[in-house]
Amino acid sequence: MYISDMTHFLNEKGNIPKEMPTEARELASFFALVVDCTTKTMPLKLTPTAIRCFNRGCHGLINTTLKPNKKEIHWYCPECENEGVINNWEGTKWNNNKK
Ligand SMILES: [Zn+2]
Repeated sequence: MYISDMTHFLNEKGNIPKEMPTEARELASFFALVVDCTTKTMPLKLTPTAIRCFNRGCHGLINTTLKPNKKEIHWYCPECENEGVINNWEGTKWNNNKK
């Protein structure tokens, strides 16, 4: 279970730093995709996306949902049961639901 604070992956400009280690950068890009995709539709139950699971050898597609508090994005891979929660995504540039 990954518990991630989106702002921890970003520099002061709100971008994923290029100098980040590859593994962390890939993970950050994955979380950015999840935020981008989920905030387009704001689903309240686990909904399939086109995002591939990042686990090596897994071909699952990630499902995402907003938690009822709408503060956390829950993502889940039905193939390998890889899952996590993303916090603090509201102020990032991948939030498509800014009011
Ligand atoms: Zn998976």
